[in-house]
Amino acid sequence: MNQLSLISEVRPAIKEVIRLEVSQLISNVSKVETVKAKQGKVKCTDVTCTVCGMSCDDIEVLMANDEITTKNACTIGDARFQVLLSHDRIVYPVVYGERQEWMRAVETAADMLIKAKRPLIFLGGETSTEAMAAGIEIAELLGGLVDGNSSICHGPTIMGLQNTGQVGCTLGECRNRSDLSIYWGCNPSESHPRHLSRHSMYNRGFFVEQGSRGRKMIVVDSRLSSTAALADLHVQIKPGSDYELLDALMVALRGEEVNEAVEKVTGVSMDTIDKLVDMVKACKFGVIWMGLGIASTRGKSHNPAIAMRLAQLCNDYTKFVILANRVECNDAGLNQVLTWTTGFPFAVDFSRGYPRYQPGEYTCVDAICRGEVDAVLSISADLGGHLPKKAVERLMNVPVVSIEVSPGPQAFVSDVILPGVIDGMECDGTFYRMDNVPIRARSFTEPPFEFTKSNEDTLRMLLKVIKQKKEDMEGR
Ligand code: SF4
Repeated sequence: MNQLSLISEVRPAIKEVIRLEVSQLISNVSKVETVKAKQGKVKCTDVTCTVCGMSCDDIEVLMANDEITTKNACTIGDARFQVLLSHDRIVYPVVYGERQEWMRAVETAADMLIKAKRPLIFLGGETSTEAMAAGIEIAELLGGLVDGNSSICHGPTIMGLQNTGQVGCTLGECRNRSDLSIYWGCNPSESHPRHLSRHSMYNRGFFVEQGSRGRKMIVVDSRLSSTAALADLHVQIKPGSDYELLDALMVALRGEEVNEAVEKVTGVSMDTIDKLVDMVKACKFGVIWMGLGIASTRGKSHNPAIAMRLAQLCNDYTKFVILANRVECNDAGLNQVLTWTTGFPFAVDFSRGYPRYQPGEYTCVDAICRGEVDAVLSISADLGGHLPKKAVERLMNVPVVSIEVSPGPQAFVSDVILPGVIDGMECDGTFYRMDNVPIRARSFTEPPFEFTKSNEDTLRMLLKVIKQKKEDMEGR
């Protein structure tokens, strides 16, 4: 019995040991391997923030004396820049809880993935499009599944878009033209803190010179969120009745009579529906911003689909567009790169040698919970912090390879941890903003280790080793 098969038999016990060892290693890292900033001052302008889907590209960064100061970044963005000098960066590979030499760690990762019958390659939204392309090549070579953050956030929105089509535009057009923003099922004041000030409400636009005095905001949310508190109209909907309200709005927009039962089902009065329709018809350029509150509630992909139909119908009266408030900075990037390479946006299976697409079957949560997945390669996703409990429990029983920047929950279920690079800051990279516009993020510093230059670099090395091992096994 070789070492790997022996390990798989006693894996749950080993993972508990790994959990303790990793905790120990992390505390050691903080004591002895503090990442050093370059000496002297480094000032960079027009830096891209690679945190949320807005990919703000006007950030100023000053690195001096082991300190980072940012200008224009929100608190969430600033926290990401601080990770560059954080004491708990993962700066060396860890295999089964022990510090390991780089190439040996890559080889162990390759062995685990090659042995699997149904490996899952999960490409997180914080890595670059270039790294994602390399990850897809690995999935194809191994005949595995490939998935990303879409399947645990805006996947239903993508499916709705495929069914209905999207009237879209760029964030720049929203900034310069929109005089009505409808935030549906989202709270951008907290999730995308610069959203209102950059693109919708508080900035002056080329065609909206008065700024906030020339713009109106509607928030559809079951809670009185911090964004709802700023709105001209807060539509307090009953949870899970988005589809019914969207349908009623389409009826009201056409000037037809809305069924009275809508009031009871949605909790929204007829007066509010009429007011909302009047505001839509009175605007010159309206935007519906879809949040996860619409994509992840009862109705799933049907909600974004009918919201997109509503936006299409609004164009009979005025100019209207609809956009998804993507959460991670490169959520949209995986949909783009997977679509170029396979024709499908997420949840792709290569087990038959060609790509197949089936959300609900090949999506990561479903495949893991059914017990099909027998190895996982996770890149910049901190998957353990996002999956439901049952899926995380499954991860405890299969080999897991992770490329991570910091030790989050994923580190505790990982057999191999390869240090991650902060793409877009420590190496150049391409990121797709929430409006699907590609942004080239320039690096302004370097990774705190020598063995890899970027996550793409790491994945290409892994790909090379897997290819070589497979050829050796096939006797070529
Ligand atoms: Fe970064 Fe998003 Fe904040 Fe902009 S709004 S600075 S992209 S976290």
